[in-house]
Amino acid sequence: MEKIQMLIDGAWVGSENEQWIDVINPATGELITQIVRGNEEHADRAVQTARKALKSKEWKSFKPFERGQFLQETARYIRANAEALAELESLDIGKPSAQAKADIEAAARYFEFYSGLADKVFGDTIPIEEDLLNVTVMDPIGVTLHIVPWNYPIQITARSVAAAIATGNVVIVKSSEDTPLTTNFLAKWFHEKLPKGVFQHLTGYGAEIGSALTSHPGVNQITFTGSVPTGIAVMKSAANNVVPVTLELGGKSPNVVFKDADLDRAVPAIVNSIVQNAGQTCSAGSRLLVDETIADELIEKLVEKFKHLKVGPPANHAEVGPIINEKQYKRILEILGTIDKQAKILVGGEAVQVEGYENGFYIRPTIIEASNHNNSFVQEEIFGPVLSVVRFTDVEEAIELANATDYGLVAGVWTKDIDVAHYVASRIESGQVFINSYGAAGGVQMPFGGYKKSGIGREKSHLAVQNYIQIKNIAIQVQL
Ligand code: NDP
Repeated sequence: MEKIQMLIDGAWVGSENEQWIDVINPATGELITQIVRGNEEHADRAVQTARKALKSKEWKSFKPFERGQFLQETARYIRANAEALAELESLDIGKPSAQAKADIEAAARYFEFYSGLADKVFGDTIPIEEDLLNVTVMDPIGVTLHIVPWNYPIQITARSVAAAIATGNVVIVKSSEDTPLTTNFLAKWFHEKLPKGVFQHLTGYGAEIGSALTSHPGVNQITFTGSVPTGIAVMKSAANNVVPVTLELGGKSPNVVFKDADLDRAVPAIVNSIVQNAGQTCSAGSRLLVDETIADELIEKLVEKFKHLKVGPPANHAEVGPIINEKQYKRILEILGTIDKQAKILVGGEAVQVEGYENGFYIRPTIIEASNHNNSFVQEEIFGPVLSVVRFTDVEEAIELANATDYGLVAGVWTKDIDVAHYVASRIESGQVFINSYGAAGGVQMPFGGYKKSGIGREKSHLAVQNYIQIKNIAIQVQL
């Protein structure tokens, strides 16, 4: 595959000093392509260009409804190229093709959803006194920076970029060094269709070009998805320039299963919630909290399902793909290797050698029964196909355990009792609670974001446009 160039100032930019980074296929361990190791100078050039584009006549004269039409066109373009995009996403992340296809459809849905909002973000008239006309105007916030991780690159790019363009901003996307392919594909489309500098795509290491961008005084807003430590670093950089951040920093989300739950419904959802994308999902259902009276029955059913999950590359039609890179793979194996003796690995807990793909990064889906909810593997985000199980005795203990981590992104509650369902949902500290389900395809319309260290702000839904506007109050004093 051709080397991937950055899109800066309306031009394709390679590496002037032969500084390229390898992009590896996690399913095979083989080289896919190379990206530019972007640097501070590239970051500065992109921000200067973005500032010019923001003020340009060309972008300012793009009317809100025309931005909406463009976003609709983008959704159609994504659907028309769904096969090619899904192949790229599978190649880059190793995810099964059905999951990659679902990601592409979700990306199209983001563009579609925000297309409809582009000309419906408006202010108020506020009554103060006669002959004073007071109005609020929703201005774009300006140069928006989108730091995208490697687990859902096209979805995460689409969800914030669509909202930012709908509201008239300009956009700089920094891809993860592991997964630039689908954003590069979209960059070609934006290059062709939008005024120069409205959309730019940069690549390189997070610690280099990423941090040069987050600390740049010309950036007006940052949307970051990734780990807590990097999120904190991004927030500190942004603080120096008094710039708002939207942070989505993952979780340790529970499925809470009560004794009257319909296990036939719960089991497939619990399995999917932790093995989807090999567990590399911010909203993964990585903790199972279960009433002790049904725990053995539920655990047995889950272990049976886990044993039969097919692990391997997309080419083998596997249900569980590889881990994204060697670093993450080793990290997960290290965690599994240090499981406390009192905890019990019920299934999995090891690497998988897939014939013909010996250099891929595969881990067997794992269930561990914790001895204690404070076990580090119950508390920390593992970001792999690893489910921890803890039993509870009553509703109050279930709520206490559900809330007993630093995170609060998503929770599933399984019960037929509406009183229990509502009582628990209203006491769980997390941005989303699902009753008798876990997640919704794409969930584009639902506000998404975290309590506690899971993040700041909300993405998805109509609320996300708030991240990309600033409110100006204009008071007109009338005098004849
Ligand atoms: P990071 O948080 O380090 O990376 C996420 C994104 O931030 C990537 O695009 C990365 O670029 C970029 N980045 C890294 N450092 C900086 C920086 N100093 N300034 C600006 N941008 C930066 O996550 P890792 O990939 O290292 O994964 C580690 C853990 O993070 C995972 O195990 C998981 O727990 C969590 N994570 C959570 C995600 C979520 O969806 N909430 C997504 C990804 C990870 P680059 O890749 O080029 O370094």
